Amino acid sequence: MTPVIALVGRPNVGKSTLFNQMTRSRDALVADFPGLTRDRKYGEGNYEGQRFIVIDTGGLTGDEEGIDLEMARQSLQAVEEATVVLFLVDGRAGLTAGDEMIADHLRKIGKKAHLVVNKTDGQDPDVAAADFYRLGFESTYLIAAAHNRGVRSMLEELLPPT
Ligand code: GDP
Ligand code: MG
Repeated sequence: MTPVIALVGRPNVGKSTLFNQMTRSRDALVADFPGLTRDRKYGEGNYEGQRFIVIDTGGLTGDEEGIDLEMARQSLQAVEEATVVLFLVDGRAGLTAGDEMIADHLRKIGKKAHLVVNKTDGQDPDVAAADFYRLGFESTYLIAAAHNRGVRSMLEELLPPT
């Protein structure tokens, strides 16, 4: 079965940047994927011959109302569809209340997620990540999506061997 990777996290943490990196080799949108909506964007990626689907989402603030609530539904739908959930945070901004709320959400849903600390460029990645360890995720990846740093090695670990 094709792995389906969902990208969730607050707005502006770099989900779409990561989506673009992951689908760069094959940037075709998967137009006929069931459930395609404006707020969930499906793309196809290929890592060393292993094909995967990646879902970009509008972002969760952790504290949703109105339009945010609709975005939250889309994100939660993406989480449901996914075989791998990546929870992105901003290593420059540090841990925010929104991050903590999203982490709580994910815990409640009971779906295992991996923590991805993005924007680790221009600083010591371990220092950037230190703040987030208290969220208690089992696995953490340190990346800089805008520079395509850490993305391939993350995929290598996340995807089943072909
Ligand atoms: P989204 O709202 O989560 O989809 O975030 P975007 O992908 O739109 O990125 C938000 C901003 O963060 C943009 O200005 C990106 O260029 C910037 N950004 C994304 N990844 C990185 C990164 O690895 N390092 C830095 N410094 N900026 C990044
Ligand atoms: Mg985006």
